[in-house]
Amino acid sequence: MKALFLLSLSLLAVVSSAQDFDFFYFVQQWPGSYCDTKRSCCYPVTGKPDPIFTIHGLWPNYNDGSYPSNCDRQNDFDAREIEDLEKTMQKYWPTLACPSSDGLKFWGHEWDKHGTCAESQLDQHSYFLSALNLYKKANILKSLQDAGIEPDDRYYSVESIKQAIKRGVGFTPGLECNKDESGNQQISEVYLCVDTSGQEFIECPTFPRISCRKEVQFPSF
Ligand code: AMP
Repeated sequence: MKALFLLSLSLLAVVSSAQDFDFFYFVQQWPGSYCDTKRSCCYPVTGKPDPIFTIHGLWPNYNDGSYPSNCDRQNDFDAREIEDLEKTMQKYWPTLACPSSDGLKFWGHEWDKHGTCAESQLDQHSYFLSALNLYKKANILKSLQDAGIEPDDRYYSVESIKQAIKRGVGFTPGLECNKDESGNQQISEVYLCVDTSGQEFIECPTFPRISCRKEVQFPSF
């Protein structure tokens, strides 16, 4: 009887943690690399974003590299819950999708696809606030500039970019690259890892598949 009880208890634990996750990727993007592609971009209604790395998202992930998505259709994005954060989000989490918009669609997509998978840890307001707080603690552009790496259309080694971010932020980043309209490889996204509380950077348990050559462009914006 006791064994049966313990068995059902552990089964229950497996079922109820099935939606949990192991860590977050906190992903920042270089707007210059989002905008100079074949697809191009549209500036938000608030105007051209500052030439700084901006937030793409805070994504729950598993240690094996896979990730959950769209975890709770009953908990859709509600713009009223982040009214107090909107101004800050427009600055540091700008939408670049076309047609030009205020950002709510982009943030809603991020919450519905990724945020709902961390709802056991963070409600909607804490989810966006956590991302903004992490952003303050990880100044990617400054880390690069301190190492002489500038958004000046020149090529830099991926190794030097990684080292500069490691020195500035304290943790090894994952990098993602894309191609500009002429096919030049450029740095597009920087991944840092965060514990399941959404508060502290950690060393990444696993990195996204590297999509960068040895030398990549850092385009101006
Ligand atoms: P995700 O679905 O969160 O993995 O992110 C990929 C989606 O986000 C793609 O549809 C991208 O086009 C979109 N995306 C990435 N960056 C931005 C941005 N700054 N503004 C609007 N959409 C974006």
